[in-house]
Amino acid sequence: MDLFDKCRKFTRAAEARASGFYPYFIPLEDTEGTEVVVNGKRMIMIGSNNYLGLTTHPRVRQAAMDAIKRFGTSCTGSRFLNGNLAWHNQLEQELADFIGKEAGLVFTTGMLTNLGTISSLVGRGDVVITDREDHASIIDGCRLSFGEMRRFKHNDMAHLERVLQGCDDKPKLVVVDGVFSMGGDIAPLPEITSVCERHGARLMVDDAHSLGVLAQGRGTAAHYGLTDKVDLIMGTFSKAFASLGGVIVGDAQVIDYIKHNARALIFSASMPPSNVAAVAAALQVIKEEPERVSRVQAIGERMRKGFQELGFNTLNSQTPIVPILVGDDMKTFVFWKELFEAGIFVNAVVPPGVPPNQSMLRTSYMATHTDAHLDRVLEVFEQVGKKLDII
Ligand code: PMP
Repeated sequence: MDLFDKCRKFTRAAEARASGFYPYFIPLEDTEGTEVVVNGKRMIMIGSNNYLGLTTHPRVRQAAMDAIKRFGTSCTGSRFLNGNLAWHNQLEQELADFIGKEAGLVFTTGMLTNLGTISSLVGRGDVVITDREDHASIIDGCRLSFGEMRRFKHNDMAHLERVLQGCDDKPKLVVVDGVFSMGGDIAPLPEITSVCERHGARLMVDDAHSLGVLAQGRGTAAHYGLTDKVDLIMGTFSKAFASLGGVIVGDAQVIDYIKHNARALIFSASMPPSNVAAVAAALQVIKEEPERVSRVQAIGERMRKGFQELGFNTLNSQTPIVPILVGDDMKTFVFWKELFEAGIFVNAVVPPGVPPNQSMLRTSYMATHTDAHLDRVLEVFEQVGKKLDII
């Protein structure tokens, strides 16, 4: 048997491409955030995580260009040895202060942040407990660790309690998404923090979709007024912060431990200067233009209400991530294609991204979407939803 036999037998993607129902790896010829160009055609983008529309904000753009002029294009090394800029250190303190924790540590992506943080903290004899809908980077961080992995049903506090009871007095880390990336619902932190407290478990919240979006941008813990009760808060810069990278914030001693033990930090090159500068500028904009955060929240509410009034099922969305439940995989692809042809760019999500029979279109919004964009989206969804008997 040849190792590559599995690749030759892997025909699903080729079949989907040939049938024309292939919503992945679509090459964007141009993008300004809310509108993109594909095959020479201009489309409305409602499949991006550029929540505040900052990728093209003049200050953010200028900061990235100035950084390239000053430092060049790359740090060409890990922070540990030779790729650490004073700017990396400064940015992590600014983010820690903004979120409300003692110290921070920036990684080169959000994925690496979860891999490095979880695998360095959870060792042999420890238990890591995740929500079934947690992001893949959390699950992979757990897999890389030498600890035991357990899961609880999505947002099911009684199940979390039972899982924790079964861990005896082993050291425990619970990891949840603050805002779930597919369903757009917010983790019930008041309940989660008290269950964790009762069982002596540490809590980490992945705020990839909440920093810049909830509580004037400060995230899920701040949304509930519980920043002190969450031990570690993780964020990524590839969404509201209009850049690339990730951060973990918490107590200084814990952060220092991660800094000297996370292989994903030590053995990977640091964030390029232009990405650091873009995050720092985006943070300033978030502080100075709070109306952007309010606007994206208001758009989320408006779209949720609009879809619901048309008869779509938006699950338990509470944020600018508004899923449209379709159920069947093929129907989801057909729906996606009709929207695509009508000029709406949206994400089709099928298993394993979601549980079986829960296939959906994931829509997400930006503070920079205009009312005309949003009206057009609802109009096209209504036409296609009726045509396909979804509404
Ligand atoms: N956590 C969550 C919840 C995410 O949605 C993502 C990105 N999709 C990540 C982590 C990883 O972030 P990055 O894209 O910066 O690697």
